[in-house]
Amino acid sequence: MLLLSGVLGGIQCQQRQSETANNQQEPKVDYAIVIHGGAGNTQQADLPEERREQYRDKLEEALNKGKSLLKQGGESLDVVEQVIHILEDARLFNAGKGAVFTHKGTNELDASIMDGATLNAGAVAGVGDIKNPITAAKTVMEKSKHVMLAGAGASRFAREQNLEMVDSSYFYTERRWKSLQEHLEREKNGTVGCVVLDSRGNLAAGTSTGGMTNKRYGRIGDSPIIGAGTYANNKTCGVSATGHGEYFIRYNVAHDISALMQYKGLSLQKASEKVIQEKLARENANGGIIAVDHKGNVSMTFNTNMMFRAYARSTGEEGVFIFK
Ligand code: ASP
Repeated sequence: MLLLSGVLGGIQCQQRQSETANNQQEPKVDYAIVIHGGAGNTQQADLPEERREQYRDKLEEALNKGKSLLKQGGESLDVVEQVIHILEDARLFNAGKGAVFTHKGTNELDASIMDGATLNAGAVAGVGDIKNPITAAKTVMEKSKHVMLAGAGASRFAREQNLEMVDSSYFYTERRWKSLQEHLEREKNGTVGCVVLDSRGNLAAGTSTGGMTNKRYGRIGDSPIIGAGTYANNKTCGVSATGHGEYFIRYNVAHDISALMQYKGLSLQKASEKVIQEKLARENANGGIIAVDHKGNVSMTFNTNMMFRAYARSTGEEGVFIFK
């Protein structure tokens, strides 16, 4: 186990962590990676130690995969894709195998990815038969002239591109089914995301989700929307968000953080806090973000009780966390 989770109490833990991660005296950061597995208002007491352990282990596995790829000179986009694959396949998170159910009892998954070097981006929305939506998003970016494909068209494209397709029953998990039946508010989060700065100085960000439990009418959240749930720009930062998507769309959260850095000269941490702790919190909009800037500073900022998260930098700091 890499590090503590919920051992250091309160927001101070988060601040200390950010300060360490942002220390300007340190040598140049060769790479940085940060991942999230969703934010929510689950209380510590409602997440038994055994279950915390499962989440920490999976986050650590994903982080280690990302680190080893980055150490070998891996490119940010590939690292984001491969790390998110692990989280999508895990069944623990609300993405890929563990996606939540819609009101109709189906699974409609969203994902997006963005390349900070070129501002190229790809996304899929409302898909129910693509095993790894993050790969579909990356394929849309690389192999089509569009940015976002939805529903049946996205599935058709994925099939034509020989991506791994699954029967819709693949996404059935008993836990999520029960969650729909019980309309458990606190079960609704668990989106996954990854942001990477690679050794070439390129940023990439990706996000993948099942959306919100009990969603209706083809609802699409922020996760596949570039600028809302995902954004990357080598000039500023890469961001992946999790939380109440409707607000993240209205507040254009991921791009707003980048814009505050670019136009107002704020640091990554200040920009993230302004958007999550001021703008969103004022609206009682729950959620958080993970982000890396072009210098390798890391931010993991959320206004909920917890956010599954982990980060590592080439300078040696790393950690896996769940609660504040
Ligand atoms: N942001 C996602 C959505 O609104 C859900 C989440 O992050 O939990 O679809």
